[in-house]
Amino acid sequence: MYFVRLTGVINCQVAGHMYISSAGRPLSSQCSQLKNYHLKSIRSRSEHTTTSNLITNKAMPGRKKQLHHKSNKAKHQPHQRAEKNGNGKQSQSEKQYANGPTPDPGPFRIAQSEVYGRYLVANRQLEAGELLITEEPLVIGPCVSGDSVCLGCYQPVGLGRDQFRCPGCGWPLCEASCPGLGRRVGHTTEECALYGERRPAFAELLSDRTSPSSVRDLYELVMVVRILLMRTHAPEQFALIARMESHTEERRKNAALWSHYEQNVVGRLRDEWKLGDLASEEGARSVHEICGILDVNCFEIGQKGAKARTLYPSAFLLAHDCSPNTAHTDDPRSFAILLRTSRRVRENEALTLSYAYTLQGTLKRRSFMYEGKLFWCRCRRCADPQELGSDCSAIVCRACQQGTVRAVAPLEQTADWACDRCDHQTKVLDLERQMDHINNDLEAIDVHDIPGLENFLVRYRKTLRPNHYLLLSAKFSLCQIYGRIKGYLLPEMSHQDIVRKERYCREFLAIIDLLEPGLTRLRGLIMYELHAPVMVLAQMGLQSGQISRPDFQRRVKEVAKLLQNSRDILLLEPEGSSEHEMGLAAADAFSKMGL
Ligand SMILES: [Zn+2]
Ligand SMILES: [Zn+2]
Ligand SMILES: [Zn+2]
Ligand SMILES: [Zn+2]
Repeated sequence: MYFVRLTGVINCQVAGHMYISSAGRPLSSQCSQLKNYHLKSIRSRSEHTTTSNLITNKAMPGRKKQLHHKSNKAKHQPHQRAEKNGNGKQSQSEKQYANGPTPDPGPFRIAQSEVYGRYLVANRQLEAGELLITEEPLVIGPCVSGDSVCLGCYQPVGLGRDQFRCPGCGWPLCEASCPGLGRRVGHTTEECALYGERRPAFAELLSDRTSPSSVRDLYELVMVVRILLMRTHAPEQFALIARMESHTEERRKNAALWSHYEQNVVGRLRDEWKLGDLASEEGARSVHEICGILDVNCFEIGQKGAKARTLYPSAFLLAHDCSPNTAHTDDPRSFAILLRTSRRVRENEALTLSYAYTLQGTLKRRSFMYEGKLFWCRCRRCADPQELGSDCSAIVCRACQQGTVRAVAPLEQTADWACDRCDHQTKVLDLERQMDHINNDLEAIDVHDIPGLENFLVRYRKTLRPNHYLLLSAKFSLCQIYGRIKGYLLPEMSHQDIVRKERYCREFLAIIDLLEPGLTRLRGLIMYELHAPVMVLAQMGLQSGQISRPDFQRRVKEVAKLLQNSRDILLLEPEGSSEHEMGLAAADAFSKMGL
């Protein structure tokens, strides 16, 4: 299965109780969460697949045959019965299909089909918010983004001389009292001993003078080494991982991809890290398999600045859909995944999650998933030229300036796009180049730079349709920083700026209601953002006599509704997460309204 935390789009810090850091970070390269869903985060997702460029360049053009959605799952063996998770306990989901008759079959079962392979389906009608799976990681480690993180807790660390380093092995750690030292989900003693023996091969290469690509290569290896160590230290968990899909044969056919892993992972482990048993052909094969398993099955998680990737015992069984019916989050202490229905699910309906970014258009989402997960998504959103009515990939026609250009056959990745008013057509390659250019332009803007983001919206308003995902991305950042940064705190904001904040929130919410309806984090966050301008404008309107009292009352009711909904969604997030804190703030604000 493929991963990705879509909704979770990002992980930035929330200081105090909400705010957004510019250092922000990335969700997992995908970091995710309330975090300020800041642009960089959203955009940095693509960095996550190390291999993206390799695959895109080499494999895509000639690749006419579409891999079947989920073809990988068909290869899974039905091995999941009564297996144990990382804690040695059965996960909740595993209990559903453990041997023996049970009075309640649980909310879902594993189904198998030619098309989907193994996947999960609802045993009965499920209501929004039902907890389906909670399980701890089989293995966890740094992402492939190239950010240096503490090996114990996955918080960012520097590489300078003043950075605290593990006395045993020399890898940078956050501090001597890092909560992850010696923990199964942190820097274990086995790992420390292994690195300690070969200190000059890696830890001592990590300094602030190390090139970003070398830093990335070194961190990329950590997760692979952890899995290799499990062969001896946690064989049961290793066996669960080894049975996950790796697409090894498919990957082997991609020369560029294969040689990337051969050099950067297999070669380095053997020649520089001197992990001798990997030198054998058998060892090399298993390293390639591990790399494939990680690309295909990893979840990228993290709360409050932490950033890690994980493999879970059963969450990977959910089918992918770009408008899924479940939402997941992770516990900041245990790194357990919590997966719930985000909306009502019919009996026998497949349970789905998304491995792509919600705030990306079909063209980008599909290539992202193909690059990382080796399948071309054919879901309802992908198949619809208007993406479920959001039209979030639509651009303005260059020829007639009136019409809208969109994909005519969105499941044909290289098919021309066409104007709906004239006969102008656009090549996908040109379009990709143009979107990359605009994306780079957006990325160059500091996340706190309100005038810069506003200018961006003006600059591209004659190029992109208003719901285009790149404009939405800028609007989302603006929704979060208006009212939060110096010079733009609510009491000092101009009437016009407050109106803008409200408008962007409403525009964003309308799109998220289409793409990620129900109890989803993005909805909870944006409703919280929206309540403030609605309230302030209502008060201003009443004071100036511009709105009537009944009108004012109606707006107050809307504010109450927004806070209630936001609270109900965000309090589903784990305690200690930024979203949960925002949920508490929403609950508090709602109770103070005294309604
Ligand atoms: Zn730490
Ligand atoms: Zn150590
Ligand atoms: Zn899709
Ligand atoms: Zn046209």
